[in-house]
Amino acid sequence: MAEFDVDLFVIGGGSGGVRAARIAAGHGARVMIAEEYRMGGTCVIRGCVPKKLLVYASHIQHEIEDAAGFGWTIPQATFDWPTLIANKDKEIARLETAYTANVEKSGARIVKTRAVFEDPHTLRLATGETVKANHVLIATGGAPNHGRAIPGIEHVISSNEVFHLDKLPKRIVIQGGGYIALEFACIFAGFGTDVTLIYRGENILRGFDEDVRTHVRAEMEKDGITILTGCTVDKVDKHVKEFTTHLSNGSSIASDQVMFAIGRHPNVANLGLEKAGVAINPANGGIAVDHFSKTSVDNIYAIGDVTHRINLTPVAIREGHAFADTVFGERQVKVDHADIPTAVFSQPEVGTVGLTEAQARAQFSHVDIYKANFKPMKATMSGRDTRVLMKLVVDATSDRVVGCHIVGDGAAEMVQLVGIAVKMKATKADFDATMALHPTAAEELVTMRIPSARHVRQAAE
Ligand code: FAD
Ligand code: NDP
Repeated sequence: MAEFDVDLFVIGGGSGGVRAARIAAGHGARVMIAEEYRMGGTCVIRGCVPKKLLVYASHIQHEIEDAAGFGWTIPQATFDWPTLIANKDKEIARLETAYTANVEKSGARIVKTRAVFEDPHTLRLATGETVKANHVLIATGGAPNHGRAIPGIEHVISSNEVFHLDKLPKRIVIQGGGYIALEFACIFAGFGTDVTLIYRGENILRGFDEDVRTHVRAEMEKDGITILTGCTVDKVDKHVKEFTTHLSNGSSIASDQVMFAIGRHPNVANLGLEKAGVAINPANGGIAVDHFSKTSVDNIYAIGDVTHRINLTPVAIREGHAFADTVFGERQVKVDHADIPTAVFSQPEVGTVGLTEAQARAQFSHVDIYKANFKPMKATMSGRDTRVLMKLVVDATSDRVVGCHIVGDGAAEMVQLVGIAVKMKATKADFDATMALHPTAAEELVTMRIPSARHVRQAAE
C-alpha cells in the first residue's frame, strides 16, 4: 500500500463520484476526489435540481388558471425571470457547499482540478502534481451533443447555457424530442414563451409507451407548444435582435433563442484512457464495464453517465455505492438495472416503470391492457383543458403487472411508489385487493377492472 498516495482516486465530483468517495472513505479507504467544475456535478449544478426548480416555477401559470374557477382573482400576477434565476443560483450554491462539506466530513479529500491518467495507477492533475492510486474510479459523466456541424451552430445553446439566460426569451426553438427538449419546452411555455419544438422522427419520446407519446404530445399542443415532426434544423442565422432557424423541410422560424437537446455523450475524451488501457464500449461510446462496473483494467472502475448505461442520477448513485461496497466493503454488490422508474417533467408529467405495451406484447403471449383517460378533478371548475392517462400492462398468464405508465400531475411521485409493487412482482389481483384512496387520481390504478384490450398471440405468430 505504501507505494500509493491513496487507496482510491475518483475522477468527477458528480452524483456517482461523490457517493462512491463517501462510502469508500466510510469503509476506511484513503480517498481523493477531483472535480474540474463544481461539486455536485450535472444533476445538482445544471441538471435535475435546477431543472425541477424551474418546473415548479412554471407550474404556477396553471395554478393561476385553476384559481379563477375556485373563486380567486389574482390581479397582479407577474413573473420576473432574473429573480427566479438569482434564487435558483442561491439554492444551487447552497447545495454545492453541502455536497463539499459532506464529502469532507466523510474523510475524503477534494481537489478542485481536472485529473487525467498518466498510467493505470497515476493521475496527473491540472496543477501539475501527480497522484499514485491503488484504485481509480472514472465518474466523469456526460455532456450535451451538438449534432452535425450545421452553419450557425455557434448560436445554439444547450442545457448547460439555458440555466443562465439573462432574460426570458419571448420565442424559442428547441430541437429534440426526448427528456430535456420536452422539459424545457414546457418550462418556457409555462412562462408564456412561444415555443416551437422540432423533432426528426414521427412522434416525440421514442422508446416510451405509444399511448404516452400521443397523450403528452396532445397535452403540450393544448398548452400552445408547436410541435413540428419529421424535420431537423439545417442552419441558424443570427440577426441583430433575433435568430432565423432554417429547417430541412424548407421552412424557417424566427426566435430569440435556439436550443438543442439532442442527447448527451459520455465524457471520455482527453482523459488519457489509452495510457491506462481502458477500453471503450463500441456499442455506445461509453466506458466498457462488467456487472461490477469494472473496466478492462483490473484496478479501474467506471460508473454513471460515462458508461452510458442508463443515464439517471439514482442509477449513478447506486453504481457508485455498489462499487465502493464491492471494492472496499468486502461485499460484492451488483446493481439491478431492471424496472427503473423514470419521469419526464413535462407538463403534465410522465411517470413510467417497467415494460411498454409493445415490449410486453413482444415478450408475452397474452397481454391485458388497462387504461383510464379522464379529466383531473382539480381542472373541473376552472375548465382547464387537460386529461390524465393511466395505463397498466399485465402479463395475463402470470397476472403480473409488468408496466405502469402515467401522464398527469403527480405522475413522477405515483410511479416512484408503483415501482415498488412492480419490482416486487405484484399481480393485477394485488392491485385490485388494495383499497382505493379517495378522492385521488392514483386510485384509478387499483380500480380498473375491465381490460381495455387483450392481446393473445396466435400459435403461428
Ligand atoms: P455527473 O453528475 O455529470 O458528474 C461528472 C462530474 O465529473 C462533473 O461535475 C464534471 O465536471 C466532472 N469531470 C469530468 N471530467 C473530469 C476530469 N477529467 N477531472 C475532474 N472532473 C471531471 N436524471 C434524473 O435522474 N432525473 C432528472 O430529473 C434529471 N434531469 C436532468 C436534467 C438535465 C438538464 C440533464 C443534463 C441531466 C438530467 N439528469 C436527470 C441526468 C443526471 O444529471 C445524470 O444522469 C447524473 O448527473 C449522472 O451522474 P454522474 O456522476 O455519472 O456524472
Ligand atoms: P434523449 O436521449 O432523451 O433525447 C434526445 C432527442 O434528440 C431524441 O428525441 C433524439 O431523437 C433526438 N436526436 C438525437 N440526435 C439527433 C440529431 N443528430 N438531430 C436531431 N435530433 C436528434 O436526450 P436528452 O438530451 O433529452 O437527455 C439526455 C439524457 O439525460 C436522457 O436520455 C436521460 O437519460 C437524462 N435526463 C433525464 C431526465 C429525467 O430523468 N427527468 C431529464 C433530462 C435528462 P430519436 O428519438 O429519434 O433518437
